[in-house]
Amino acid sequence: MTTNGILCQVNGTQVYLDPKRAVSNSINFVSHAHADHLPSKNGGTILSSYETSEIANLRGFRMENHVFEHDEYTLVDSGHILGAKGILIDDVFYTGDISTRTRGFLEAAKIPQCKTLITECTFGLPEFVFPKTEEIESQVNQIISEHYSRGIPVILMGYQLGKAQTISQLFGHWEPLYYHDSVKKMNDLHRKLGVNLKESIGHSEAESQGLLDKKPWVMVAPLMSEKNFFVKHMKSKYGAVTIGFSGWAKSPRFVFGRRSDYSIPLSDHCDFNELVSMVKQSGAEKVYTIHGFVNEFAEILKKQGIDAQPLKEESLDDFI
Ligand SMILES: [Zn+2]
Ligand SMILES: [Zn+2]
Repeated sequence: MTTNGILCQVNGTQVYLDPKRAVSNSINFVSHAHADHLPSKNGGTILSSYETSEIANLRGFRMENHVFEHDEYTLVDSGHILGAKGILIDDVFYTGDISTRTRGFLEAAKIPQCKTLITECTFGLPEFVFPKTEEIESQVNQIISEHYSRGIPVILMGYQLGKAQTISQLFGHWEPLYYHDSVKKMNDLHRKLGVNLKESIGHSEAESQGLLDKKPWVMVAPLMSEKNFFVKHMKSKYGAVTIGFSGWAKSPRFVFGRRSDYSIPLSDHCDFNELVSMVKQSGAEKVYTIHGFVNEFAEILKKQGIDAQPLKEESLDDFI
């Protein structure tokens, strides 16, 4: 681990994993296009999926010297968002952000066998166990249907990249369906990249055409606080209710769950049980934890007889 992300050196090759700045004379692996994984500067060769480079482009980062694949390394679908990959470098597997659960158009990640596993552990505490996607679907359809019968519009909120597309697909059968302008931009790109999402108009256009006055309707929007102008406006003008989708939704320890009228624990990451079974499935002899509850999750793995430790800057020497 370096101050510029993880440097993986195996058999004389050098790969930076999700570096903050891409490094010259190196391979820079970008697992996916979420802001915390995108480099802020070009440099060297960037290795990522085609979808990741397209989404990055939409978000204002154009990758130079970009390759989609590499002879020596295997990119593995990580099921996190469109185009998200993990990477297998010799017998080291880096998960990036990962989900082993199928949700809408996102297929569950298939975990390769490895000796060393570098895994995220965003939800690496036993309290984070998420319900099945089908249960979430029926619960949310129920909530929407109750409000529809009373003419009340419903706003479904999730991160603009990833969650918003999954929600757009899972609940796209509701009519009329509108998208927040920023979600529309991302959904249109996803449709261009082959994801089956309903085509619809953005909220500004819907509002200027007076369509939002014809209630009820469903809208997909980014995750926003109740204090946000957009949410306040939609509530006071149209009486809309909000449903927030987040892995943090049911956690009393985190404020995220209190942002909306309803909070639904739908995540683009593995829950605790999925993390543990992924570790076991990989057959890894050594596990390094990054992102999230790194100390706690490593401790839990150790109690189960798995050699695990958080990946911190000082552990560089052990790792190489
Ligand atoms: Zn991510
Ligand atoms: Zn992340």
